[in-house]
Amino acid sequence: MRIARLTAIAAAAVLSLGVAACGGDDDSGETGSTGGEAKTFEAGSTMERLNKAQKIVVGTKFDQPGFGLKGLDGKPAGFDVEIGKIIATELGIPEGNIEYIETPSAVREEKIEKGEADVVVATYTINDKRKERIDFAGPYYVAGQNILVKADDTTITGPDAFKAGDKKVCSVQGSTPAANIEQYLADKGSQLVLFDVYTKCIDALNSGQVNAVTTDNVILLGFIARNEGKFKLAGENFTEEPYGIGVKKGDTAFRTFINDTLEKAYSDGRYEKAWKDTAGKFDDQVPTGPAVNRY
Ligand code: GLU
Repeated sequence: MRIARLTAIAAAAVLSLGVAACGGDDDSGETGSTGGEAKTFEAGSTMERLNKAQKIVVGTKFDQPGFGLKGLDGKPAGFDVEIGKIIATELGIPEGNIEYIETPSAVREEKIEKGEADVVVATYTINDKRKERIDFAGPYYVAGQNILVKADDTTITGPDAFKAGDKKVCSVQGSTPAANIEQYLADKGSQLVLFDVYTKCIDALNSGQVNAVTTDNVILLGFIARNEGKFKLAGENFTEEPYGIGVKKGDTAFRTFINDTLEKAYSDGRYEKAWKDTAGKFDDQVPTGPAVNRY
């Protein structure tokens, strides 16, 4: 009976979606069809809507090497992009049907609230302030704030170097590192330079407009790798930045689905492969996948 029903669902999915069925079982009880996997999503859920549309909009960064970097082919690549692909796959949506939109730090909540992005996977630290506007699945990675300086700089070895008031630091509007560095500054007005994206901070460091760039270690490691010999990290991480996947506030079913998806990817090797293919090229500390927080 169950087999007959699943067969009927699979057949219907093949007819409506034009995807070839080739067997496979379904342990999650969801519907849709990817490579022949029969799936059933709860009626009215975000998962059902996205599966029916056969399209998902993923908000990510376009200028962060290793996490979300738009290549010459116009396609973003990186660990966050791979996490987006894993979510799409579990929804029964082919990779080619993912639309990526750029979500700089300051506009991430807004893009989710307005429904312009179905998910935001964008080096996005989970915190209570952001949870007032959106919800987070994850974390799927834990980064930490650090400082990037020119390779020959010996004067900055940590955030305390800014207390004297003579050094300028660059970060990004609406980011947690921009807010957190303020406590180390003697004069925010003259010392903190903010842009919308990190590449502009890197330009400012190159031109001598600022002495340092601060954000998460893994983002900075990406810029170090792309600018060989030019930059280094100034010291140790001084915060914890658990990365989550932003979804619409109150969409608990979708958040649960993404948390289930992450746990599946942790155990079946897709998470590790995603890391090794992207950020793992310059950070060989392969994460094991932090426990998701089903708050
Ligand atoms: N993880 C931090 C944040 O979400 C910094 C990285 C970023 O700006 O995306 O604000």
